[in-house]
Amino acid sequence: MGEIKPQPGIMEIELYQGGKSAVEGVTNVVKLSSNENPFGPSPAAQEAVRRVLHEMHRYPVTDHAALRHAIAEVHGLDARRIICGVGSDEIIHFLCQAYAGPGDEVIHTEHGFGMYKISARAAGATPVEVPEKERVTDIDAILAAATERTRLVFLANPNNPTGTMIGLAEIERLAEELPDGAILVLDGAYAEFVEGYDGGAALVETRGDVVMTRTFSKLYGLGGMRVGWGYGPQQIIDVLNRIRGPFNLSAPALAAAEASIRDSEFVEKCRSENARLRTWLAEALMEHGVPSDTSCANFILARFADAEEAEACDLYLQKQGLIVRRVGTYKLPAALRISIGDEASCRRVAHAVGLFKAGAR
Ligand code: PMP
Repeated sequence: MGEIKPQPGIMEIELYQGGKSAVEGVTNVVKLSSNENPFGPSPAAQEAVRRVLHEMHRYPVTDHAALRHAIAEVHGLDARRIICGVGSDEIIHFLCQAYAGPGDEVIHTEHGFGMYKISARAAGATPVEVPEKERVTDIDAILAAATERTRLVFLANPNNPTGTMIGLAEIERLAEELPDGAILVLDGAYAEFVEGYDGGAALVETRGDVVMTRTFSKLYGLGGMRVGWGYGPQQIIDVLNRIRGPFNLSAPALAAAEASIRDSEFVEKCRSENARLRTWLAEALMEHGVPSDTSCANFILARFADAEEAEACDLYLQKQGLIVRRVGTYKLPAALRISIGDEASCRRVAHAVGLFKAGAR
């Protein structure tokens, strides 16, 4: 039998490392490693799932019409130009499958979300990493890296894992100056945490080459349900729908997402608690000598003296039952990304970091 080989590029993919959820021998663990909603899913979403369970033997709808209309209503968008996916991961994947192939380039930033590279490679394209400036997206560096082979530019705003954000004027300049034939993808996984930010929807409306992606995994507390969506020009959405599996989203996932987006009271509570506790945690860590960049998301990037100190603090936190995220794979070895938990969890983290900085190991 001859050698069985995967497509070129596949073996260059590094396996995605998800956030840990347990520490051996430690109980009363708090997971602050995957930017999940500490308040859980909305009660309305749980009820909606219960209501559809008796229909588990039926295939779900293929066109996601009810969910698309709910999203369109809440965000003031055109439902026909929304596509729903198994997390926004799947929308990222569709974009790469449909628009990038061998010889094409896919731009992502230095400390950008890991799926961009994976999806680009899976499509046979070449990921191109662009440096950031002090952990903030650098538009000039992206423009300098763009070529006539650039097919997609992925930009998370706010960015994960830095939490930093750039303004709409800068994004507009990027869209304007990118070479023809490139699609700018504005990944708004954390857009809901920013008061008054539309995730780039206005730009999608005025241009034919900008797509926005969003998720139910963060503010809406549905990480385990896997629902994300994209919004773009009709022509691009029609292309993505051609490669979408007809039953990509399950009926419980669709029901949960629709109920969540309509539960504005719960959503508002989560958003304001996140903002309040994020400021509190950043200030508390700073008092212990641990700075962080101003975060616009539901996590902060705590910076230590060096990789050794960050690793030692991570191990100490684990012993205290606090699981945060090492971000070495995102080229930030001297930092720890800490998701904003509920008040008790934030207090536990601040207290433990204080003890660590005072010498506890
Ligand atoms: N984009 C960014 C920037 C993210 O941080 C994440 C989740 N970690 C995603 C997209 C994907 O989220 P999901 O597939 O759960 O929608």
